[in-house]
Amino acid sequence: MTTLTWLGHAAFRLDTPAGHRVYIDPWLNGNPSCPPSELEPERADAVLVTHGHDDHLGDAAEIAQAFACPLIAQVELRGLLAEKVGEDMSQALNKGGGKDLLDMRVVLTHANHSSSYNGSYAGESCGYVIELAGGPTLYVAGDTNVFSDMQLIGRIYLPDVAILPIGDHFTMGPREAAVAAELIGAPRVVASHYATFPLLTGTPDALRELLPTGVELLAPAPGETLEL
Ligand SMILES: [Zn+2]
Repeated sequence: MTTLTWLGHAAFRLDTPAGHRVYIDPWLNGNPSCPPSELEPERADAVLVTHGHDDHLGDAAEIAQAFACPLIAQVELRGLLAEKVGEDMSQALNKGGGKDLLDMRVVLTHANHSSSYNGSYAGESCGYVIELAGGPTLYVAGDTNVFSDMQLIGRIYLPDVAILPIGDHFTMGPREAAVAAELIGAPRVVASHYATFPLLTGTPDALRELLPTGVELLAPAPGETLEL
């Protein structure tokens, strides 16, 4: 069984078919949408980070330290995190590059966004494809606008589930997310990066009206777990 739990904003906990626990962009402490019960992880086997902004990097280094697990990130950001989690080029990917990890293959994808860490250049913002052995393939868009190369991600990796930002202002909103869903072609979309602050005005209801026929929108409440 594969389950995905939304921890508010762009943070997710993925529990894989083999029972491994993966945190994606785990901004927990300071995240106004993170349920209190999720603030202190019990265990973690890997952490995936899309870019260096605080609302994504969040507690990633602390989780990786606490559980001595890999922290995967784009190469420049991973280099900057070496002071906290040690240098390990096997955990530093770049766009188009993949890696076998636990019962997954993870691939870094393009995203149209910026990235920085403590005010420094931190490479480029990315997304992930996560291919689970004996489970679905996820596409985590990260922070991005819509871009036509999403079609290539759909063609190459055939994701079953696409996690898309919908909040507007810092990322795409529902109008672009609907076209992103069409380009990616995944039958299920999970809404992310919305409702955290008043600036993020995009809603699942607005997206639902615009989605291509046959695409199911999943909008769990913070702390709610989806079976994928
Ligand atoms: Zn963000």
